[in-house]
Amino acid sequence: MLTAIVGTNWGDEGKGRMVDLLSADYDVVVRYQGGNNAGHTVVNERGKFIMNLLPSGILRPETANVLGPGMAVDLEHLYGEVNALRAAGIEVEPGHLLLSDRATICLPYHKLLDGLEEDRLGDKKYGSTRRGISPVYADKYMKKTLRLGDLLRTDTLRGKLADLVEWKNLVIEGGYHAPAVTVDELMDWLDRFGRPFADFICDTTRVLSSAMAEDRSILFEAQLGALKDVDFGIYPYTSASTTLSSYAPIGAGIPFARLDECIGITKAYSSCVGEGPFACEFFGDEAEALRTAGGEYGAATGRPRRVGGFDAVASRYGVRMQGCDCLALTKLDVLSYMDRIPVCVAYEVDGKRTDRFPALIDEQNAAKPVYEYLPGFRCDIGGCRRWEDLPGAAKDYIRYIEKAVSCPIRYVSVGPERDACIRLF
Ligand code: GDP
Repeated sequence: MLTAIVGTNWGDEGKGRMVDLLSADYDVVVRYQGGNNAGHTVVNERGKFIMNLLPSGILRPETANVLGPGMAVDLEHLYGEVNALRAAGIEVEPGHLLLSDRATICLPYHKLLDGLEEDRLGDKKYGSTRRGISPVYADKYMKKTLRLGDLLRTDTLRGKLADLVEWKNLVIEGGYHAPAVTVDELMDWLDRFGRPFADFICDTTRVLSSAMAEDRSILFEAQLGALKDVDFGIYPYTSASTTLSSYAPIGAGIPFARLDECIGITKAYSSCVGEGPFACEFFGDEAEALRTAGGEYGAATGRPRRVGGFDAVASRYGVRMQGCDCLALTKLDVLSYMDRIPVCVAYEVDGKRTDRFPALIDEQNAAKPVYEYLPGFRCDIGGCRRWEDLPGAAKDYIRYIEKAVSCPIRYVSVGPERDACIRLF
């Protein structure tokens, strides 16, 4: 069974929590795109963990976890993340964690450039996490990066790095007038944070091909959501990678594989980090109430997230772009304080009503939400574990969302804990 777990919206839908729950049924969990700009929060009997680079299956000792070729890996961050897990008693050893020799290394100067560019933009900034993701993906397509496998070639590593540094300093010094970076400092960094992973780096393509040949099950864990996809999202306020399920086999390193299932993760309301169009955004007290109820502060950055009512227009589009077979609706419990629950059923763009998610940023910016309101359920549903336990208004909301986005909801999550989830079919 090859299954992708993806976000249908702007990210932070609760993918990590669903991967943690569902990974019990999978032999391998693979992250296939993005870098440590992700923040997947998992709460289970072993504690609370925030995963940035590591697949959320890392908490299960029997699961193999892969960082695929489609990822950009900041080794310093990986080093910190692995050590934090070890300090919490989680073993992270080769075999349990495998790093693709084809994955791109996110170097300190990528982070530097991310910050320099955001600062230069001032009011026009993208709201980047400043973790180097756009610069490193840009360099990947310029064919000017190191890959994890290069770390193993100690005979050629320094020479490759020197060529990159010579080129990069043209921009750092010449363009941004910042101090040049040096080969020595970067070699030290690679030694310190890359060397400890030498035994983890391998041709993961072969490992996954064998897993498929042995009929073992693979779960593909996405980062962010459809609306942050570089081609199909709110460009240019997207991430720099492909967040869609169709990229999962490629980014994981088994491009010939076909997904058996795509599970979309959809939050019961909207949230968005960073800048860019967000038609359903709440402001003032209304925003504060939802942000507080949902704990909507970025897992990777701590930034307060922008929040709003459920956006059926954007979600329907996200579900379609992801090719979802079914959905997990998360954080339904958060809405229990509302007397009536707003759902954006259409946009008004330049005085015209539309139920289509616009392709261009100007139309997205101009979109005004058209709301319908459903009755609130006004009670704590955190303890519900069966469909029958849910109040009628919560059931009505679930059925309404299902229709609005044209996709069946298989799971309803009512709390962050592993077992706080109801399976509907
Ligand atoms: P991801 O990036 O898609 O994995 O999502 P995040 O981890 O950034 O955000 C989801 C947050 O909501 C985390 O803090 C989770 O612990 C929490 N969470 C997930 N599902 C639920 C739920 O059903 N109810 C509540 N109250 N919290 C949840």
